Amino acid sequence: MSYNIAIDGPAGAGKSTIAKKVAAKKGYIYVDTGAMYRAMALYLVRQGVTREDTDRISEVCQGADISIKYENGEQVVLLNGENVNGLIRTPQVSDMASVSSQNGDVRVKLVKLQQELAAKEDVVMDGRDIASKVLPDADVKVYLTASSTCRAKRRYDEMVAKGEECDLDEIERDIIERDHRDMTRENSPLVQVPEATLIDSSNMTIEEVTEAILALCR
Ligand code: C5P
Repeated sequence: MSYNIAIDGPAGAGKSTIAKKVAAKKGYIYVDTGAMYRAMALYLVRQGVTREDTDRISEVCQGADISIKYENGEQVVLLNGENVNGLIRTPQVSDMASVSSQNGDVRVKLVKLQQELAAKEDVVMDGRDIASKVLPDADVKVYLTASSTCRAKRRYDEMVAKGEECDLDEIERDIIERDHRDMTRENSPLVQVPEATLIDSSNMTIEEVTEAILALCR
């Protein structure tokens, strides 16, 4: 049986940073499920799907074959064989991902891929519905959050470090809007399951959060 760690939480809570660290410490694979939803969103955008014609999503999504592989320990997302890692972090793709992830057919496709991975490998998987839907029997379940101001500031610092132009208030508004969509959707909304451990990272360092999760594994 493989060992599975599930980390759920809102956008910008630090899930991927922490999940990568925990995975490296444990020698497990890190699975970023958000990147899969983003690759699907990129495909939909390329096919001309807009926020206004979401009823086309069920049909169009069938043409996307999404898979992942690992290069130097980094997850690479493949969209119909193309490495799309460098194309899925734009505001347009973020926005479409949070809209298209509401679609049941998109979720069925990606959840199946995630469950297959976790069945054969020890994984640290992060997302929104990992503990509630993808891996209900995960060995460790964490709900990682932080205040929206704090999450926005982290995203802002990341973008500034990359030399991108951005506005802190706009980032916070965008985060709040995406969280609202993720938490109120009908299909697999973001929830903290009762058995998950809540970690609020607002006033914690990356090392402290990583250590708290490793302690839960012990
Ligand atoms: O985590 P990240 O911001 O990369 O995820 C992008 C979008 O994909 C989220 O806003 C959410 O709507 C969706 N998502 C999801 N279920 C997951 C992971 C991400 O619905 N397990």
